[in-house]
Amino acid sequence: MQDLGDLDSLYRELILDHHRSPRNTEPLISPDVEVDAVNPFCGDEVKVQLKTSGGTLNGISVTGRGCSISQSSASMMGELVKGRSVEDAMRARRAFQALMKGEALTEDQLADLGDLEALQGVKRYPVRIKCALLAWSALEDALKRVRA
Ligand code: ZN
Repeated sequence: MQDLGDLDSLYRELILDHHRSPRNTEPLISPDVEVDAVNPFCGDEVKVQLKTSGGTLNGISVTGRGCSISQSSASMMGELVKGRSVEDAMRARRAFQALMKGEALTEDQLADLGDLEALQGVKRYPVRIKCALLAWSALEDALKRVRA
């Protein structure tokens, strides 16, 4: 895949694996919130559904279509925040945004991101950053609605 050519091969495998077999794609029966996001620059689409209880994300569904960056980021995000608190999810969102901006992350922030570290090479491709952040902006919208 040409647009991943520059990424470390281990990271590349992880990205392609999430793209081929996205996690948490089963739709939720009656989600508390549902957010659709579109990245017109690349044609990527992501839908995030959440179910929460007592401030914990005890149900998440992430589906969509588009490039490997957008879809692997979405899949990794779902795996990361599933079963975590709304606060944890917001913190991960901030850490991932910082990673995409090329900011230096603390050890704690990197630990918060887990597999998403695999996408760090994307920061070198400004056009693709929107792809990587798409699912996260949908998640942020969803979390805000949960709180409201
Ligand atoms: Zn894309």
